[in-house]
Amino acid sequence: MILYSTNNKNLRVPFKDGVFNSLPSDKGLYMPVKVPVLDPEFLAELHKFTLPEIAFNVSKAILNDVIPDSDLKAIIDDAINFDAPVLEISKQINVLELFHGPSLAFKDFGARFMSRVMSYFLREGEKQLDVLVATSGDTGGAVALGFLRVSNVRVTILFPKGKVSPIQELQLTSIGYNIRAIEIDGTFDDCQALVKHAFNDSVLKERFRLTSANSINISRLIPQTFYYFYAYAQIQRMGFKEVVFSVPSGNFGNIGAGLLAWKMGLPIKQFLAATNINDTVPDFLRTGVYQARPSVQTWSNAMDVGDPSNWVRIMDLFGGNLEQLKKVITAYSYNDQETLGAIRKVFLENNYIMCPHTAIAWLALKRWMNEHNSNEIAGVFLATAHPCKFPDIFPEDTAREIVVPVQVKDLEGKEKVFVSLGKDYEEFKAYLLG
Ligand SMILES: *Cc1c(COP(=O)(O)O)cnc(C)c1O
Repeated sequence: MILYSTNNKNLRVPFKDGVFNSLPSDKGLYMPVKVPVLDPEFLAELHKFTLPEIAFNVSKAILNDVIPDSDLKAIIDDAINFDAPVLEISKQINVLELFHGPSLAFKDFGARFMSRVMSYFLREGEKQLDVLVATSGDTGGAVALGFLRVSNVRVTILFPKGKVSPIQELQLTSIGYNIRAIEIDGTFDDCQALVKHAFNDSVLKERFRLTSANSINISRLIPQTFYYFYAYAQIQRMGFKEVVFSVPSGNFGNIGAGLLAWKMGLPIKQFLAATNINDTVPDFLRTGVYQARPSVQTWSNAMDVGDPSNWVRIMDLFGGNLEQLKKVITAYSYNDQETLGAIRKVFLENNYIMCPHTAIAWLALKRWMNEHNSNEIAGVFLATAHPCKFPDIFPEDTAREIVVPVQVKDLEGKEKVFVSLGKDYEEFKAYLLG
């Protein structure tokens, strides 16, 4: 598999380079030169396969010339070792639960696969890999657990001070070993800017072998395609032929992976990009003007992104044609009050508890289904995190009903270790060099 830069289709590198360098030197993002289209027979029979079987077949189509089958299978079996069930919530409204991994968020798919692919490519005697990652909450935990004790890799996590939930903060800061955490006195966008700046700093690049674990890294996108195929398999079993996915979106990596699955032949009728009031993309689809802006803090904090880093990838998938894109993607945004209202309603009416990010995807799906009255279509909204990660948001009667998984119970009483820095780049750089 060969990658090109979204800024220059002639700038091409092998897959391994894209995984280790994350960003092309021209500051575009890497995309595969060829997106393989899967065998229609396989797609028609998806319902016969398990998640690891689907993951293996999909990744093999993409990576067959890069990683031999037996190694790929070992990577998949180790990385994708938890389920992603589709459950019916109400008529034609289904949830795809992506939070059954170790950090209780969908980012476990990307982080676990990426860490194992990197470790596969890291040969004996190679220079230590330094993974830098900015997190709005969930990436950090998934990456930390994904890379924990992977030899010859050091992970540095930047998180915005006071803007991640207590459980998320514990997940980031209590792990130790080859994982270190830095609290930045700023927003997620500030954390992301520091990381991006570091990747373009020749002094740091000379000294360290830097790579990113954010969704700008192509190896995170590939495993996120798996669950779209697997969800479709489950929808087939329910007897539906058409499916609409509603994706709670921040940096647009998750929906980008869904679009990649669609390009690979998965017959998805429509994607709903559901955002909070950080509505740069819904605004763009409405006005045709892309206006990045500073992020605003909301209850769905993992989606507080004012300039989604994967948006260029999505534009690239449509050759920059906004009209084509709008046929496949519909975007809606919701504020905190609407989010809370949705959480209440679904808890009271369907006895199901959604995290705030998931609630936004539910809202978008309900709206779209109402506007497109059809008995043929199954709607699937993606549940991106377990509700227990955001305990402060829920009213008492709801919070009481949340079943806390063992992953969280294990965190209780652990010591938090982290460094505090401002958002000034030189200070951050000095820390890395120190
Ligand atoms: C990261 C995250 C999102 C946003 O996903 P993107 O791929 O950045 O669009 C949504 N929900 C939760 C819970 C997340 O952790």
